Amino acid sequence: MDLAKLMRGESGLLVRAETRFRHKDGSWRTLEVMGTKFLDSAGDATCVLNSRDVTEQRLWEETLRHQALHDGITGLPNRACLRDRLQTLMHTGRRKPKPFALFILDLDSFKEMNDTFGHHCGDDILRQVAYRLQKHIRSADVVARMGGDEFALAVCLDSREDAAAVGGRILDALGPGYEVEGHKLSLSASVGAALFPEHAVGPDNLLRLADMAMYTAKRGGGGRFAIYDIERDSHSRDRIALQGELRDAFEREELRLHFQPFFDSTGKHVLGVEALARWQHPRRGLIMPGDFLETLGQDGLSRVFTAWVLKSALSQCTAWHEEGLDVDMAINLSARDLDDNQLPRLISKLLAENHIDPRRLTVELTEDTVMLEPERSRATLGALREIGVGVALDDFGCGHATFTWLRTLPFSRMKIDRSFVLNMAVQKEDAAIVRSAIGLGHDLGLTVVGEGVENLATMRLLKAFGCDILQGNYLGRPMPAKSAARHIARLSRDEDRETDEPESVLPGALLGAVPRSLPS
Ligand code: C2E
Ligand code: MG
Ligand code: MG
Repeated sequence: MDLAKLMRGESGLLVRAETRFRHKDGSWRTLEVMGTKFLDSAGDATCVLNSRDVTEQRLWEETLRHQALHDGITGLPNRACLRDRLQTLMHTGRRKPKPFALFILDLDSFKEMNDTFGHHCGDDILRQVAYRLQKHIRSADVVARMGGDEFALAVCLDSREDAAAVGGRILDALGPGYEVEGHKLSLSASVGAALFPEHAVGPDNLLRLADMAMYTAKRGGGGRFAIYDIERDSHSRDRIALQGELRDAFEREELRLHFQPFFDSTGKHVLGVEALARWQHPRRGLIMPGDFLETLGQDGLSRVFTAWVLKSALSQCTAWHEEGLDVDMAINLSARDLDDNQLPRLISKLLAENHIDPRRLTVELTEDTVMLEPERSRATLGALREIGVGVALDDFGCGHATFTWLRTLPFSRMKIDRSFVLNMAVQKEDAAIVRSAIGLGHDLGLTVVGEGVENLATMRLLKAFGCDILQGNYLGRPMPAKSAARHIARLSRDEDRETDEPESVLPGALLGAVPRSLPS
C-alpha cells in the first residue's frame, strides 16, 4: 500500500489490518489495527492508530464456519463441505485433475439398532464408524457424513480394480467389534462407487451415480460393493440420446403443455389449472418431464424453456378467460430459474401483456429446489411476491426444508407431496402425516393443497382434515388444453351432482365441479 499517496488524500480511514501476537500469559491474541488520518485547518495531516483485541470474535466466527460445514455428531465434513471438496478435486487450477472414486456407504441395519438401543447409542455407533473410516482408509482424501447413516469417501485412484479393492477395504473396516452399552455388535454396509472423470465430471452427477451404485449393492442384499455401471443404467443411456435432440425440439415445436385442474375442498369447484410440460417426440411418443428436465439444464436451455412455459401458459389463460373459463394458472419452476434475477421482470411483463392479474398466477418450486440455496431462494421468491404472484412449496415432505426456513421464506401455498396423499385412505401413518402437514401449513398462514387424489375416500379425508385445495387424477388428469377446457365445461354442467355419492357410482370426471364463471 502506498502510504505516502494515501497521506496526500483527504481525512478518513487509511488502513485496517489484523495481526497476531503472543500475550505474556503465553496465548496467541488477534489484534485489529485501524489507522485514521485527520487534516487540521492548515492542511497538516495526523495519523491516529486504534487497536482492539478481536480474538474471541474471530474464534466465534471460525466456530460458526466450522459448524456450517461439519456434522455435529462425528465432526466429519458434511454434505455441503463434501460437495466443495469434490469441486476442488475436479478443478485443480491449470493442472490436469487427478482421477478419483467417490464411495457412498449406507449402514445396513442402523435403523433397527437405533430403535433398539436408542438415539444416544446410535450416535455412538456413527462416531465409531467415522473413526474406523478415517483410521483404516488412509488413502481417502475426504471422509464425510452425508446425513442419517450415510457416509462418503473420495479416494484418488484410477482404475475399477483399485476402486473394487478400496470398496472391499471399506466393508472390512466396518465389520464386528462395536461396543454399545455392554453389548458386542457387528455392522455391515452397502457400498457404491462412481469414478471421476469416467462416469461424471460434476459433483452432483457423481454423487447421484455413486448413490445409484450404493442402491444396487443394497438390492443385492447388503454387505456388498457395487460400482456404477453405465451399461445397466438404461435410463441414463436414454437421457444421453435425448440430449442431442432437445435443442431441435424447440424449433420443431414438439414441446407441449398439459393442464391439470385443481379444485376447492369440496372437489366441486375448479379454481385453476397447473401447467405440466410434455415432449411429443416424433419416434418415442410422449416423454414426461422427469425424463427431460435435467437434460434441459445440462444443455443450457433452462431459461429458454421457462420463458416458453410462461408465455404458453399465460396466453392460454387469457384465451380461456376470453371464452368465459375463469381459471387461475400455476406453473413449475426449477432450481436454475432461481438464479435468474431477470425472471420477476419477465413474469411482470408477460402478465401485463396478457392482461392477467398477478394474483391469478402461482409459481411452484419443490422443497429440494428451494433448499439448495435458501438465501438465494428468499431473494427471488421475495421479488416474485412483491409483484403479486403466489409462490407454492411443491412436493412438501420429500425434501429437507427446516422449520426455520419454512417460517421465513415467503410462500403463499404448500402442496403436500403425492407420495403421502396416494395411500392415506389405507395407511394410517400417511394420514397422520398429511393431517399434521395441513395443520402446519395453516399455522404458517399458507393455503394447503393435497395432490395425488386418486379416489373418493382420499378426497373425503382431505376435506375432513381441512385441506383447502385438491388435485389429482380422480378429479382430473393432466390434459391438452382443448380436453382440459371440455373437461371443466362438462363438470360445470353437472354442478348439482353430489361428491359424497358412493365411489362405485361416481366416476371422477362427473364430480360436479363448477368453474367460477361458466363458459358461454
Ligand atoms: P409436480 O409439480 O408435483 O406435478 C404433479 C405430478 O403428479 C405430475 O407429474 C402429475 O401428472 C402427477 N399427478 C397428478 N395427479 C396425480 C395422481 O392422482 N396420481 C399420481 N400418481 N400422479 C399424479 P408429471 O407431469 O410427470 O410432472 C412431474 C414433475 O415435473 C412435476 O411435479 C414438476 O415438478 C416437474 N415439471 C412438470 N412440468 C414442469 C415445467 O414446466 N417446468 C418445471 N421446471 N418443472 C416441471
Ligand atoms: Mg407442481
Ligand atoms: Mg408436486
